[in-house]
Amino acid sequence: MARIRSKGTRPELQVRSALHRLGYRFRLHSTQLPGRPDIVLPKYRVAIFVNGCFWHQHRCRLGRMPRSRLDYWVPKLNGNKRRDSRNYRDVKTLGWSVLVVWECATRDSRKLQTLLQMRLRTLVVK
Ligand SMILES: [Zn+2]
Repeated sequence: MARIRSKGTRPELQVRSALHRLGYRFRLHSTQLPGRPDIVLPKYRVAIFVNGCFWHQHRCRLGRMPRSRLDYWVPKLNGNKRRDSRNYRDVKTLGWSVLVVWECATRDSRKLQTLLQMRLRTLVVK
């Protein structure tokens, strides 16, 4: 099965550098967890998925379903979404938190940093 998430994409690099600026220590591409999260914060048991808006069907401009070859795209993209939900659920079952960062939220590095700071603050409080 082809991986729909490739390593070291620009959005992922943006997230990594924002986390670095925020002082979080992280590891990449955990093969231990379902769906292989792009980034994990082992100390806080947070799994971060950096999702391309198209492949993971974000409800934004980038996530629009193509207008042609619907017989191909609809099942494929819906399958991706189903697999995502299953992975998130399985990761949570193992006692980890899931943080999804969408590609469209990584364009502005300052906004991204604020977003991560806020989201992580709620996740890492013990
Ligand atoms: Zn998006």
